[in-house]
Amino acid sequence: MMRLEITIHNETGLHARPAKTLVNLVKKYRSDVAIWHGEKKANAKSLISVLTLGASKGSQLKFEVSGEDEESALAEIEAAIRSGLGEGAMVAASPAPRATEPVTAPVADGQPARANVLRGVGAAPGLAIGPVFHYQRQEISLDDVSDGLVIGWERLQDALASAREQLDALNQQMIARGLQAEAAIFDAHRGLLDDPELTDAVQARIQRGQDALKAWKETIEDSAMIVAALRDPILSARADDLRDVGRRVVRLLVGVEEEQATLPDKPVVIVARELSPSDTVSFHQDHVLGFCIVNGGPTSHSAILARALGLPAIVSVDESVLKLERDSVVILDGGAGTVTFNPTPEEVQSATRQREQWLGQRHIALEQATAPAITADGRHVDVVGNAGSLADAEKALSMGAAGIGLLRTEFLFLERTTAPTEAEQFDVYRAIADAMGNLPVIVRTLDVGGDKPLPYIQMQPEENPFLGERGIRLCLNRPALFREQLRAILRAGARGNLRIMFPMVGDIEEFRQARRMLDELQTELNIPPVTTGIMIEVPSAALMADVLAREVGFFSIGTNDLTQYTLAMDRAHPALASKQDGLHPAVLRLIAKTIDGAHKHGKWVGICGELGSDPAAVPILIGLGIDELSVNVPSIPLVKAQIRGLKASELQGLAQQALDCSTAREVRELVKRTLSVS
Ligand code: PEP
Ligand code: MG
Repeated sequence: MMRLEITIHNETGLHARPAKTLVNLVKKYRSDVAIWHGEKKANAKSLISVLTLGASKGSQLKFEVSGEDEESALAEIEAAIRSGLGEGAMVAASPAPRATEPVTAPVADGQPARANVLRGVGAAPGLAIGPVFHYQRQEISLDDVSDGLVIGWERLQDALASAREQLDALNQQMIARGLQAEAAIFDAHRGLLDDPELTDAVQARIQRGQDALKAWKETIEDSAMIVAALRDPILSARADDLRDVGRRVVRLLVGVEEEQATLPDKPVVIVARELSPSDTVSFHQDHVLGFCIVNGGPTSHSAILARALGLPAIVSVDESVLKLERDSVVILDGGAGTVTFNPTPEEVQSATRQREQWLGQRHIALEQATAPAITADGRHVDVVGNAGSLADAEKALSMGAAGIGLLRTEFLFLERTTAPTEAEQFDVYRAIADAMGNLPVIVRTLDVGGDKPLPYIQMQPEENPFLGERGIRLCLNRPALFREQLRAILRAGARGNLRIMFPMVGDIEEFRQARRMLDELQTELNIPPVTTGIMIEVPSAALMADVLAREVGFFSIGTNDLTQYTLAMDRAHPALASKQDGLHPAVLRLIAKTIDGAHKHGKWVGICGELGSDPAAVPILIGLGIDELSVNVPSIPLVKAQIRGLKASELQGLAQQALDCSTAREVRELVKRTLSVS
């Protein structure tokens, strides 16, 4: 056995991502690895176990490694911990402070909040009008079931096997519907079932004479409580997942069907304190009009699933929603993040009209997904997709995308302990290029840095990672890593449809330096020149667009970052979420400057930030002269349909008026007034 004593240096200790990095690294080895933190011992191959150590920055840990590959395992563990487990040693990146109040949707200036409206955060767009149904999960009490029922280890194994089958089936169902991210939720649940720590703890309890049902329930609850007590939003989601998986197995052990049957036989608006992913998919879709959830944020698993199911949803809703009378009618607006209770007949009438319009538009948009996006007066706008995997690219194609406007290559680099090789990258880029046929694919080079650290890159501590070594800056400072990616893209682009784009360029020297490296590689590989562009995400680049356009092949405006840097608001800050609006005239002026600068030199400009799929922004962007909109995959048909209903000639004036507005709200009101779009 080999031993190592080491101090944890990274800022968040063995929490969430660093713990996962360590566990993934250890799992590659056959040796057993134990970690001691004081009296607490953890199995380093179990995420739950490592999390429960509660090791923070400065904690002294002892590693015990035994097995045939102990030497190399220990060496890699030591190196990973010394380099900060993906956070960089002593990185001072403080997480965005959490809002103490729930984030609320903005209230129009001067208009008092309406008395019959409860506010939350819109999580999935659309309108639902219908009776309230309070969903409360049917908890199975041990007293109800243990009467004469002694459950042993074997029966538990059968239940675990069935739970694995169910989760695999749910995973496959989601994949079959093209919902990769949703499929991953059930895959993660499957991973929890196989966590060695859980199984060991249950077995130990059974050996001490406990019934398997009790042993399972209590082990799950203990682990979930310890994980939840770490007070980390990412970990609390893990605690919820654990409980969800736990309930699935309990139901199988005692032979209770899923709760589906408890829903009434008519369509309802589901109101709940919380919903697990299993709850959300277990509802019969024909019986659900929308979700209204008190806990959880817009990125919670149930919000993701609601969006995928196409059902309106709001989260973080005021608690008083739980007191609404069952069967009383409410209007749920997933876009605005509101629930209207006791609506007047006029309110119901108007909401019904809007809902019919919304459903009709969605239906037509999907039917006509493959038709081109040409305005009523003949202006063509390329609508392409943002992708983060081969599956996304395939889905984008089936939804009518004219190409991929942003391939986020980070997906190949994250969640691993070593960089992907040139060959690995080549295979994936090539598969995506092939999947898209002759349609263009814009491959964005690695966009990581202080806010998205990689365990295998040494980083200096940074106080402001968004302003630090991020995007192209990081790649230029690590030429070997950068060259490897560029070579893979160049080689994979043999069929001619790949373009290259550098992220976060703020200065022409950065572009020139990156371009020089690319030129050298092209010569070395004897490959013809590839069209190369940059993202416009930094105000300096937007202001200098006419100068950059002399040398750069194209621009794609990253409005997520451009908004954050222009308004000086951290894009992940929950308390600022409602103020982060890309329709702020300051951002629009930079977009206008970028488009004018590019067109002056005959170059084209796209948008690949979220603003490109905002219905209120689409007319303004077209009015400003944008050439391409690269949007999230589900929005492709909707954006195309919206374009077909617009007249480009009428939008120039609208765009000019928007530039003269003083706030984002004024811009939104202008669009609503002029085009009835909100
Ligand atoms: C953006 O900043 O708008 C963008 C598309 O890049 P990302 O969201 O990947 O930072
Ligand atoms: Mg960006």
